[in-house]
Amino acid sequence: MGKYPKMMAGMMLPGGARVEKVEVPVPTPGPGQVLLKMKAGSLCGSDLKYIYYEHTDKTGGARYDNVICGHEPSGQVVEVGEGVLDFHEGDRVLVYHIQGCGYCDECRKGFFINCQNPERRAYGWQRDGALAEYMLADVSTCIHLPDFLTYEDGAMISCGFGTAWQGLLRAQVTGADRVLVMGLGPVGQAVAMLAKGMGAQVIGADISEDRMNMVREIGCDAVFAGDDSCVSNIMDYTGGTGVEVAVDCSGSAVGRHRCLEAARMWGRVVYLGEQGTVTFEPSPLLLHKNLTLMGSWVTSVANMERLVEFLVRKQIHPNRIVTHRFALKDAAEAYRVFATGKTGKVCINMEME
Ligand SMILES: [Zn+2]
Ligand SMILES: [Zn+2]
Repeated sequence: MGKYPKMMAGMMLPGGARVEKVEVPVPTPGPGQVLLKMKAGSLCGSDLKYIYYEHTDKTGGARYDNVICGHEPSGQVVEVGEGVLDFHEGDRVLVYHIQGCGYCDECRKGFFINCQNPERRAYGWQRDGALAEYMLADVSTCIHLPDFLTYEDGAMISCGFGTAWQGLLRAQVTGADRVLVMGLGPVGQAVAMLAKGMGAQVIGADISEDRMNMVREIGCDAVFAGDDSCVSNIMDYTGGTGVEVAVDCSGSAVGRHRCLEAARMWGRVVYLGEQGTVTFEPSPLLLHKNLTLMGSWVTSVANMERLVEFLVRKQIHPNRIVTHRFALKDAAEAYRVFATGKTGKVCINMEME
């Protein structure tokens, strides 16, 4: 003790597109916990959708209590609680952003995201999160961050890249596949980068010219405007067959529909984008094409560890898609800029003053 101050600054989202700075005590790690000196916390679209404007509970576990915000945490261990064997002072970590009950079937598989029990707590939603000087983390949610990856990389893995990775695992993407990424926000950009790393041919589509340019830079093989010509352009590009895998990251009805249209016979379609609806005719779009349509939500702790290993092996830095970075004290500006919908990833970097 005594290595760090008694009080710390943190950020809260009280609603109405406001960010409130608070001064709170630095917590003490209990058994099975570590105290992290926060290094990076990136912003996620779900912060905006469920907390920033107003507190909603549209999806499971989305209830928001008055806590420090930020669910993409990465930091360095500064104190270790009782019984913690695999993390030590000085270790660099990223944090899988949800703690489950630990005893249900899904928790035992490491899919804390799917836990239905009242003990489930997500960082930045029902327990204090990333946007503070320090954060208390349960070691069951901590993953070692290898030297190759930066703290910003770690933060981005903890939700966005993990979600993208799981979608590709669900679709069992291989280097033989052409992968369409519909919607090129931060999760879509992550899908594009990871699918490329897996050796697939990657096709992006979005309505935003800025986002189309961003994925050109990260190595998409082809990028099409998300207008009425989108599907016919994809069909032409694929020699009339359509794509083996289509991943919707748009969350829009039209994007979801186009994924079904652009998938080839026996193709796999994954819905990753949250919210909204979709209506389609199952016979021509699903049955007669023998499509497999999957939903996918976040990932498991073990799969996230495999992602970390993959990124090191393929020498991929997730923070390539960061377009804006801010110091912790400028969190309000970070959210304001992110809410314009015109950015890539926005990251709070606690090493900035
Ligand atoms: Zn998220
Ligand atoms: Zn559980």
